[in-house]
Amino acid sequence: THFGFETVSEGEKAERVYKVFESVAQKYDVMNDAMSLGVHRLWKDMLLHVMNPQPGICLLDVAGGTGDISFRFLDYVRSQRERVARRTARANQTPSWQEISTSYTTPTEGIEMETEARESRAVVCDINKEMLKVGKQKAESMGISSGLSWVVGDAEELPFDDDQFDVYTIAFGIRNVTHIDLALQEAVRVLKPGGRFMCLEFSKVTNPLLARLYDAYSFQMIPVLGEVIAGDWKSYQYLVESIRKFPDQETFKQMIEDAGLFSVRYHNLTGGVVALHSGFKL
Ligand code: SAM
Repeated sequence: THFGFETVSEGEKAERVYKVFESVAQKYDVMNDAMSLGVHRLWKDMLLHVMNPQPGICLLDVAGGTGDISFRFLDYVRSQRERVARRTARANQTPSWQEISTSYTTPTEGIEMETEARESRAVVCDINKEMLKVGKQKAESMGISSGLSWVVGDAEELPFDDDQFDVYTIAFGIRNVTHIDLALQEAVRVLKPGGRFMCLEFSKVTNPLLARLYDAYSFQMIPVLGEVIAGDWKSYQYLVESIRKFPDQETFKQMIEDAGLFSVRYHNLTGGVVALHSGFKL
């Protein structure tokens, strides 16, 4: 298999990927902002926008690193719940409702009671303890404690039972796993029937001019930023090279279908710099 553009054994790739993320963990968030000029936040927001999770669902975020996707998920469902609560409060202020149905709950009260009862949960799973450690510290500083758990685990052999999760996400993680097909099979296994798979990953830029600019930027600037900010040229060179090696949009779509997911589609973000693939387990 490959580690960037080097040919290495499978075991060696996993070990090297582990070392890369162990070494970048403390600076990972700062580097993400610096390398993507903050745009990774928009890509992650887009993932949540397309997911549009409703209160009460259970998310598994694989290769979740420092928890960005899960934080966004919990924030999104909290704002959905507040919206329902506001709607309920407005409905309760309407005299006609109170007069007509004093002894019954209004439809919106019903929704609120249901969503209160079913708390949303997010599980961040990553192979790297250092990344999770930084994520946990972030959660503490943000005051997030309920509905979130952190699990050390390999995307290729997830430590969860079958049919557990409503949504499986993997953001900028799948290109790092040694066997993409195994990771996809595991995603299918742990999703509930009807559950959704969603993957954000660097992809192939569709516009030739943008592709040239992007190539120049990533090959020349990203390792330099890695050296200046994190003192680590090699890790960031690996990241750039692993992006180049990852299958294009259509090839990856086919791989997801081969794993057994349905209604597979993708959106190109920023002209294909990143693609958001999604599919459903039947
Ligand atoms: N999802 C986070 C985000 O978007 O900010 C982190 C992405 S980071 C580029 C890639 C993550 O994949 C790292 O935290 C790394 O430890 C994790 N990873 C690599 N190989 C993995 C594997 N086989 N199983 C689970 N996680 C893995």
